[in-house]
Amino acid sequence: HLSKRLAAVADFVPDGARIADIGSDHAYLPANLLLNKHISFAIAGEVAPGPLANVENEIARHGLHDVLMPRLANGLAAIKTSDLVDTVVIAGMGGRLICQILTEGELDKFRYHRLVLQPNIDIDLVRSWLSENGYQLVDEAVVADDGHYYEILVAEPGNVTYSLRELKFGPYNLTEPSSVWLEKWQREAMRIRNIMRKLESADQSESDAYQEYAKELQTIMEAIA
Ligand code: SAM
Repeated sequence: HLSKRLAAVADFVPDGARIADIGSDHAYLPANLLLNKHISFAIAGEVAPGPLANVENEIARHGLHDVLMPRLANGLAAIKTSDLVDTVVIAGMGGRLICQILTEGELDKFRYHRLVLQPNIDIDLVRSWLSENGYQLVDEAVVADDGHYYEILVAEPGNVTYSLRELKFGPYNLTEPSSVWLEKWQREAMRIRNIMRKLESADQSESDAYQEYAKELQTIMEAIA
Protein backbone atom coordinates (compact mmCIF):
# COMPACT_ATOMS: atom_id res chain seq x y z
CA HIS A 1 0.00 0.00 0.00
CA LEU A 2 1.62 3.22 -1.17
CA SER A 3 1.27 6.68 0.34
CA LYS A 4 -0.84 9.08 -1.70
CA ARG A 5 2.38 10.80 -2.75
CA LEU A 6 4.11 7.65 -4.00
CA ALA A 7 0.90 6.38 -5.61
CA ALA A 8 0.76 9.60 -7.62
CA VAL A 9 4.39 9.11 -8.67
CA ALA A 10 3.66 5.48 -9.60
CA ASP A 11 0.77 6.62 -11.83
CA PHE A 12 3.27 8.14 -14.24
CA VAL A 13 5.34 4.98 -14.68
CA PRO A 14 4.23 3.43 -17.99
CA ASP A 15 3.02 -0.18 -18.03
CA GLY A 16 5.85 -2.54 -18.81
CA ALA A 17 8.55 0.06 -18.11
CA ARG A 18 12.02 -0.93 -16.93
CA ILE A 19 12.61 1.50 -14.12
CA ALA A 20 15.38 2.75 -11.89
CA ASP A 21 14.15 4.25 -8.64
CA ILE A 22 17.03 6.38 -7.41
CA GLY A 23 17.09 7.09 -3.68
CA SER A 24 14.61 4.28 -3.20
CA ASP A 25 14.92 3.83 0.58
CA HIS A 26 12.31 1.14 1.36
CA ALA A 27 11.77 0.41 -2.35
CA TYR A 28 8.02 0.71 -1.72
CA LEU A 29 7.43 2.22 -5.15
CA PRO A 30 9.18 -0.40 -7.33
CA ALA A 31 7.96 -3.26 -5.10
CA ASN A 32 4.38 -2.08 -5.47
CA LEU A 33 4.65 -1.69 -9.25
CA LEU A 34 6.22 -5.15 -9.56
CA LEU A 35 3.67 -6.84 -7.28
CA ASN A 36 0.82 -5.25 -9.23
CA LYS A 37 2.49 -6.38 -12.47
CA HIS A 38 2.64 -2.89 -13.93
CA ILE A 39 6.33 -3.46 -14.53
CA SER A 40 8.56 -6.53 -14.64
CA PHE A 41 12.01 -5.13 -13.85
CA ALA A 42 13.33 -2.47 -11.49
CA ILE A 43 16.50 -1.20 -9.95
CA ALA A 44 16.44 0.36 -6.51
CA GLY A 45 19.47 2.63 -6.15
CA GLU A 46 20.66 3.88 -2.80
CA VAL A 47 23.73 5.86 -1.84
CA ALA A 48 23.58 4.87 1.84
CA PRO A 49 23.89 1.37 3.34
CA GLY A 50 21.05 1.85 5.87
CA PRO A 51 18.36 2.55 3.26
CA LEU A 52 19.84 -0.18 1.03
CA ALA A 53 19.21 -2.64 3.86
CA ASN A 54 15.57 -1.47 3.78
CA VAL A 55 15.50 -2.21 0.06
CA GLU A 56 16.89 -5.69 0.68
CA ASN A 57 14.29 -6.36 3.38
CA GLU A 58 11.50 -5.37 1.02
CA ILE A 59 12.92 -7.66 -1.70
CA ALA A 60 13.11 -10.60 0.72
CA ARG A 61 9.67 -9.90 2.21
CA HIS A 62 8.00 -10.18 -1.21
CA GLY A 63 10.39 -12.61 -2.91
CA LEU A 64 11.32 -10.08 -5.57
CA HIS A 65 14.95 -11.24 -5.97
CA ASP A 66 14.68 -11.88 -9.71
CA VAL A 67 13.04 -8.61 -10.65
CA LEU A 68 14.15 -5.94 -8.18
CA MET A 69 17.88 -5.24 -8.07
CA PRO A 70 19.34 -3.44 -5.05
CA ARG A 71 22.31 -1.28 -5.98
CA LEU A 72 24.54 0.69 -3.65
CA ALA A 73 25.58 3.62 -5.83
CA ASN A 74 25.58 7.38 -6.13
CA GLY A 75 22.66 8.51 -8.28
CA LEU A 76 22.36 7.12 -11.79
CA ALA A 77 25.58 5.13 -11.41
CA ALA A 78 23.19 2.44 -10.13
CA ILE A 79 22.10 1.86 -13.73
CA LYS A 80 24.03 -0.40 -16.14
CA THR A 81 23.53 -0.18 -19.88
CA SER A 82 22.54 -3.86 -19.91
CA ASP A 83 19.61 -3.08 -17.56
CA LEU A 84 17.85 -1.40 -20.50
CA VAL A 85 16.23 1.06 -18.13
CA ASP A 86 13.79 3.37 -19.92
CA THR A 87 12.22 5.19 -16.97
CA VAL A 88 14.02 6.93 -14.12
CA VAL A 89 12.16 7.84 -10.94
CA ILE A 90 13.64 10.23 -8.38
CA ALA A 91 11.25 11.10 -5.57
CA GLY A 92 11.23 12.57 -2.11
CA MET A 93 14.30 14.78 -2.20
CA GLY A 94 15.12 18.41 -2.79
CA GLY A 95 15.19 19.81 -6.31
CA ARG A 96 18.84 20.77 -6.04
CA LEU A 97 19.86 17.20 -5.24
CA ILE A 98 17.69 15.89 -8.08
CA CYS A 99 19.40 18.31 -10.52
CA GLN A 100 22.81 17.25 -9.21
CA ILE A 101 21.98 13.56 -9.67
CA LEU A 102 20.71 14.21 -13.21
CA THR A 103 23.79 16.27 -14.11
CA GLU A 104 26.17 13.63 -12.80
CA GLY A 105 24.14 11.02 -14.70
CA GLU A 106 25.31 12.50 -18.03
CA LEU A 107 21.88 12.33 -19.58
CA ASP A 108 23.29 13.72 -22.81
CA LYS A 109 25.06 10.37 -23.25
CA PHE A 110 22.39 8.19 -21.65
CA ARG A 111 18.90 9.03 -22.85
CA TYR A 112 15.92 7.78 -20.93
CA HIS A 113 12.49 7.63 -22.42
CA ARG A 114 10.90 9.12 -19.31
CA LEU A 115 11.87 10.86 -16.07
CA VAL A 116 9.37 10.93 -13.20
CA LEU A 117 10.59 13.43 -10.63
CA GLN A 118 9.08 14.49 -7.33
CA PRO A 119 11.15 17.32 -5.85
CA ASN A 120 10.05 18.33 -2.35
CA ILE A 121 11.35 21.88 -2.82
CA ASP A 122 13.00 23.98 -5.58
CA ILE A 123 10.66 22.59 -8.22
CA ASP A 124 11.43 25.54 -10.50
CA LEU A 125 15.11 24.53 -10.57
CA VAL A 126 14.16 21.06 -11.80
CA ARG A 127 11.93 22.47 -14.56
CA SER A 128 14.75 24.71 -15.65
CA TRP A 129 17.28 21.84 -15.56
CA LEU A 130 15.02 19.79 -17.81
CA SER A 131 14.63 22.50 -20.44
CA GLU A 132 18.37 23.20 -20.42
CA ASN A 133 19.22 19.53 -20.85
CA GLY A 134 17.02 18.37 -23.70
CA TYR A 135 13.97 17.25 -21.75
CA GLN A 136 10.47 18.66 -21.91
CA LEU A 137 7.63 18.27 -19.47
CA VAL A 138 4.86 16.01 -20.72
CA ASP A 139 2.73 16.17 -17.61
CA GLU A 140 2.58 17.54 -14.07
CA ALA A 141 0.57 16.77 -10.97
CA VAL A 142 0.17 18.09 -7.44
CA VAL A 143 -1.05 15.93 -4.56
CA ALA A 144 -1.89 16.85 -1.01
CA ASP A 145 -0.67 14.23 1.44
CA ASP A 146 -0.15 14.43 5.16
CA GLY A 147 -0.48 18.22 5.26
CA HIS A 148 2.00 18.83 2.43
CA TYR A 149 1.66 19.57 -1.25
CA TYR A 150 3.85 17.44 -3.47
CA GLU A 151 4.58 18.21 -7.11
CA ILE A 152 5.36 15.59 -9.69
CA LEU A 153 7.13 16.39 -12.95
CA VAL A 154 7.05 14.00 -15.89
CA ALA A 155 9.61 14.64 -18.63
CA GLU A 156 10.63 13.07 -21.92
CA PRO A 157 13.33 14.00 -24.43
CA GLY A 158 12.48 17.18 -26.32
CA ASN A 159 13.44 20.82 -26.70
CA VAL A 160 11.46 23.57 -25.08
CA THR A 161 11.99 26.92 -23.38
CA TYR A 162 9.89 27.93 -20.41
CA SER A 163 9.04 31.45 -19.24
CA LEU A 164 9.83 32.41 -15.64
CA ARG A 165 6.15 32.03 -14.88
CA GLU A 166 6.10 28.50 -16.32
CA LEU A 167 9.24 27.57 -14.40
CA LYS A 168 7.67 28.72 -11.16
CA PHE A 169 4.15 27.38 -11.56
CA GLY A 170 4.51 24.69 -14.20
CA PRO A 171 3.29 24.90 -17.80
CA TYR A 172 0.72 22.12 -17.35
CA ASN A 173 -0.48 23.43 -14.01
CA LEU A 174 -1.05 26.83 -15.61
CA THR A 175 -3.00 25.58 -18.62
CA GLU A 176 -4.92 22.83 -16.81
CA PRO A 177 -5.05 24.01 -13.19
CA SER A 178 -6.07 21.23 -10.80
CA SER A 179 -7.96 22.03 -7.62
CA VAL A 180 -5.01 20.81 -5.52
CA TRP A 181 -2.57 23.04 -7.40
CA LEU A 182 -4.92 26.01 -6.89
CA GLU A 183 -5.21 25.16 -3.21
CA LYS A 184 -1.42 25.03 -2.85
CA TRP A 185 -0.99 28.54 -4.23
CA GLN A 186 -4.05 29.93 -2.45
CA ARG A 187 -2.50 28.74 0.78
CA GLU A 188 0.83 30.31 -0.15
CA ALA A 189 -0.96 33.59 -0.98
CA MET A 190 -2.65 33.49 2.42
CA ARG A 191 0.70 32.87 4.14
CA ILE A 192 2.21 35.88 2.38
CA ARG A 193 -0.80 38.09 3.18
CA ASN A 194 -0.41 37.22 6.86
CA ILE A 195 3.25 38.21 6.81
CA MET A 196 2.37 41.45 5.04
CA ARG A 197 -0.26 42.23 7.68
CA LYS A 198 2.30 41.73 10.43
CA LEU A 199 4.74 44.00 8.63
CA GLU A 200 1.97 46.60 8.23
CA SER A 201 1.19 46.62 11.94
CA ALA A 202 4.91 47.00 12.63
CA ASP A 203 4.95 50.04 10.30
CA GLN A 204 7.12 48.19 7.81
CA SER A 205 4.98 48.75 4.70
CA GLU A 206 7.75 50.74 3.05
CA SER A 207 10.43 48.12 3.68
CA ASP A 208 12.10 46.21 0.86
CA ALA A 209 10.88 42.96 2.41
CA TYR A 210 7.27 44.16 2.27
CA GLN A 211 7.65 45.21 -1.36
CA GLU A 212 9.10 41.78 -2.20
CA TYR A 213 6.15 40.04 -0.56
CA ALA A 214 3.74 42.32 -2.38
CA LYS A 215 5.37 41.46 -5.69
CA GLU A 216 5.34 37.73 -4.92
CA LEU A 217 1.67 37.92 -3.94
CA GLN A 218 0.82 39.69 -7.18
CA THR A 219 2.68 37.03 -9.21
CA ILE A 220 0.72 34.29 -7.46
CA MET A 221 -2.64 36.04 -7.83
CA GLU A 222 -2.04 36.51 -11.56
CA ALA A 223 -1.13 32.83 -11.95
CA ILE A 224 -4.23 31.51 -10.19
CA ALA A 225 -6.64 34.14 -11.46
N1 SAM B 1 12.22 7.77 -2.95
C1 SAM B 1 11.66 7.44 -1.66
C2 SAM B 1 10.38 8.18 -1.45
O1 SAM B 1 10.08 9.09 -2.24
O2 SAM B 1 9.66 7.89 -0.50
C3 SAM B 1 12.63 7.72 -0.53
C4 SAM B 1 12.97 9.18 -0.34
S1 SAM B 1 14.17 9.40 0.91
C5 SAM B 1 13.59 10.82 1.71
C6 SAM B 1 15.60 9.95 0.02
C7 SAM B 1 16.60 8.84 -0.21
O3 SAM B 1 17.52 9.24 -1.21
C8 SAM B 1 17.41 8.50 1.03
O4 SAM B 1 17.23 7.15 1.35
C9 SAM B 1 18.86 8.79 0.61
O5 SAM B 1 19.78 7.86 1.13
C10 SAM B 1 18.78 8.70 -0.90
N2 SAM B 1 19.80 9.48 -1.65
C11 SAM B 1 20.22 10.73 -1.38
N3 SAM B 1 21.14 11.10 -2.28
C12 SAM B 1 21.30 10.05 -3.13
C13 SAM B 1 22.14 9.81 -4.27
N4 SAM B 1 22.99 10.73 -4.70
N5 SAM B 1 22.04 8.61 -4.89
C14 SAM B 1 21.19 7.67 -4.44
N6 SAM B 1 20.38 7.85 -3.38
C15 SAM B 1 20.44 9.01 -2.73
